[in-house]
Amino acid sequence: MATVFEMIINGEIPSTRLYEDESCVVILDINPIAKGHALVISRECYPTFTDVPMETLSHMMEVARMVDKKQREVLGAEGTNVMINNSPASGQEVPHLHIHVVPRYTGDGKTPAFPKGKYDDGEISKYGDLLKL
Ligand code: 5GP
Repeated sequence: MATVFEMIINGEIPSTRLYEDESCVVILDINPIAKGHALVISRECYPTFTDVPMETLSHMMEVARMVDKKQREVLGAEGTNVMINNSPASGQEVPHLHIHVVPRYTGDGKTPAFPKGKYDDGEISKYGDLLKL
């Protein structure tokens, strides 16, 4: 079944389009974290960050940077959150790769409330050993 983003890219669902090229489309998120919140969407449907060819991902990051620049220039954003939710366990709702670019302002109170934890004694080095690349 087509994802909502495929339907948007094919023009079957309306969207507010900011940019498009041969490999991605940029639209405004319909439920923005902050007004101007944009989504850089791959034209091909790759379900996750892990599936997309590196060349496409790197191009999408360049486009995300263009969006960041525009949000700063036009909206006066002082920062942005550039995020990819990667697989449903991370909160990804639409299984079609997209990069969120959310304009941020000092003191806007929108920082995601990820609860932060602590390592037990010696545990951080175990995770370090496990995850060394
Ligand atoms: P995810 O949770 O998959 O990282 O993010 C999906 C995003 O797509 C959500 O922020 C949601 O608001 C947005 N979204 C879902 N359906 C539509 C739609 O029909 N139009 C637009 N413009 N955005 C959508």
